[in-house]
Amino acid sequence: MSSDEKSPAVLFIHAHPDDECILTGATLAKASHLGLATIVVYGTKGDAGETSAELGDQTLGQRRVGEAMAACADLGVARVEWLPYADSGMAGTDTTDNPEAFSNADPSIVADSVAELVAAEHIVAVVGYDDNGTYGHPDHVQVHRVANEVAKALNAPWVLDATYNREHLASLPGGDGTLDPVFAAAEADLTHFVAGEKWLKAKITAVSNHLSQVPDDWDADNPDLEGFRERFGTEWFIARSPNGATDLGPLNDLLTPKALWTERVAEEFDSSASIT
Ligand SMILES: [Zn+2]
Repeated sequence: MSSDEKSPAVLFIHAHPDDECILTGATLAKASHLGLATIVVYGTKGDAGETSAELGDQTLGQRRVGEAMAACADLGVARVEWLPYADSGMAGTDTTDNPEAFSNADPSIVADSVAELVAAEHIVAVVGYDDNGTYGHPDHVQVHRVANEVAKALNAPWVLDATYNREHLASLPGGDGTLDPVFAAAEADLTHFVAGEKWLKAKITAVSNHLSQVPDDWDADNPDLEGFRERFGTEWFIARSPNGATDLGPLNDLLTPKALWTERVAEEFDSSASIT
């Protein structure tokens, strides 16, 4: 079968386990529901992350791979691939200097290996992060570079930068209204979003697999689901075409233009959903 005959596929490049849920869980669930094949490629196993979980015989990376595989299964992901790089950790830490770290790899070499992995697929979009990796983590910035290189290598018609809406986040209760210019993306730069209760519920179910990453201040008995919905209920994208495409094609049903967004566009939140 030639790649043109296969179902349209969306390729998601992620830095670490749990990024697939936090940044694109609703989008993965919706894409799968629409019959788009979804492929997730991780740069690292998240082995430099923090955890307060009891790991037993496992390394943190092993634990997080298991959590990610379960989350991807919940989200209907068709295929998961793992690149052999180490987690770079936060900027300024020792792990960032590791020559094997994802952020220290040549993005075009990483992209060539990703392109080879998916050569038989019919990729209609490559999803990465905005140019600051949404918050500056070296591996997330690398995802931005790699996604662009992969799209070029595959001649994919669309690159989608997953990100947050800076103005919306700054306006949330508990925020001080300050716009951090290196965090997320300006609303003016956003082009499309994915929102909706059904996809949010799928996201919450999937993120519940990432038990090693539950924040210490998360109250499992009384979860702040409304706060989660406000922060993560809408998934934002900056769509651009490296080869001049103007029609989103199979992505038209997946992505909604920014102009249609209102803060309550995600239907009334159903608090029967649960996060562990
Ligand atoms: Zn990450």
